[in-house]
Amino acid sequence: MRIRFWGTRGSIPKPGPATVRYGGNTSCVEVRADSTLIVLDCGTGAHELGQQLVAGRSVPKRGHLLITHTHWDHIQGFPFFAPLFVPGSEWDVYAPRQLGRTLEEILGGQMHRTYFPIPLGELAATIRYHELTEGVFDLDDVRVTTRYLNHPAPALGYRLEAGGVSVVYATDHEPHSRHHPEARGEAARVHREDERHIEFLRGADLVIHDSTYTLEEYPSRLSWGHTPAEWAVDFAVAAQARRLALFHHDPSRTDRAVDELVTRCRERVPGEGGPEVFAAAEGQYLVVVRPGTGTATAAAGAARTAERNPSSDKATILIADDDADVLAVIVETLEPEGYRVLTATDGEVALQMTRVERPDIVVLDWMMPGRDGLSVCREIRRDSDPKVAALPVVLITGRADAQDTADGFDAGVTDYLTKPFKPTHLLARLQSWLMRSQRD
Ligand SMILES: [Zn+2]
Ligand SMILES: [Zn+2]
Repeated sequence: MRIRFWGTRGSIPKPGPATVRYGGNTSCVEVRADSTLIVLDCGTGAHELGQQLVAGRSVPKRGHLLITHTHWDHIQGFPFFAPLFVPGSEWDVYAPRQLGRTLEEILGGQMHRTYFPIPLGELAATIRYHELTEGVFDLDDVRVTTRYLNHPAPALGYRLEAGGVSVVYATDHEPHSRHHPEARGEAARVHREDERHIEFLRGADLVIHDSTYTLEEYPSRLSWGHTPAEWAVDFAVAAQARRLALFHHDPSRTDRAVDELVTRCRERVPGEGGPEVFAAAEGQYLVVVRPGTGTATAAAGAARTAERNPSSDKATILIADDDADVLAVIVETLEPEGYRVLTATDGEVALQMTRVERPDIVVLDWMMPGRDGLSVCREIRRDSDPKVAALPVVLITGRADAQDTADGFDAGVTDYLTKPFKPTHLLARLQSWLMRSQRD
């Protein structure tokens, strides 16, 4: 399954200089499983997703929109989701059943003329509405399991399974018990619903989980319907999930504060076999594969343990390119090879991520909005941390004449790769640079 985060912020959009890396748009996650397109939530991140979908070579004829609940930050992008305006396209919209009002009435409500100029009924696409309770159903080859979340509005989490991998999307959820066990891991929860929640996450290859608060903030926000990030880690550990994406970032959480929270959360993971923890970032692209080729989890148990400490021994590659499709192809090539791949879509973000994440190698597109690849490379070479300053930097560019190449090396690039190139070619070059930097 391929995942792209279009909105990771909770509650209200929060664009600005303090949120450029993790993003300001509210919940929206694109999931692709073969040709099936699933969109998880329709917060303001859905605007850019919709723009990209209709700008592509073929506008998808069909999509499924799975809404956790109809709080504003999860549906505000709906009236701005461009595929809904395309005649001939078909969208199936799913959300929890509510008493007294249909889903169509609720979504139509925010498009009432008091709030929005175009009524729901005038959208050109064929839209079918489905009201859900707990259960299991199939979207093409994707098995979907729904589970109630603990939130002030009826809310459902979604577990998606296809091709032997599983992704759980559980946002806007508060732990049922405030009596959190001191002993983490498998320790029994006081509340049976918390055990049930852990079962819902059980063994997932990726859990995208509400992490709105910190543990210090939580006591003043009880019953607001959200999880402190540290407890999201405990849930993922107890469920033996492989990766945990902290999600639904508090609007007042700056990029720097998210970094600190990630560090604290990683320290909370027990040394052996715990999940890889990261904070979901707008624009981030992931390919979820089972480690190795085996999909039979029981038989692969021993192998999994060895593979389950990814943050410590996987080389980390940071790729910056403003073309999302190029990024997607590169990530799909590198992730199955066992690399941890970080992505950025502009130069300034790439530079900040280099300083914070300290990848093993940096790959930069020359032409990017804001700060271009050459400028990022120059800044890396000037960094006060000698380890950062010495990182291998590979520049990828369509500019191939002798002067361009010389300019690249003058800026301090380690290697220069000319477009177009095959992803396998990039992989081979990166592997050679990683081997060389390990040897030095
Ligand atoms: Zn929310
Ligand atoms: Zn909510």
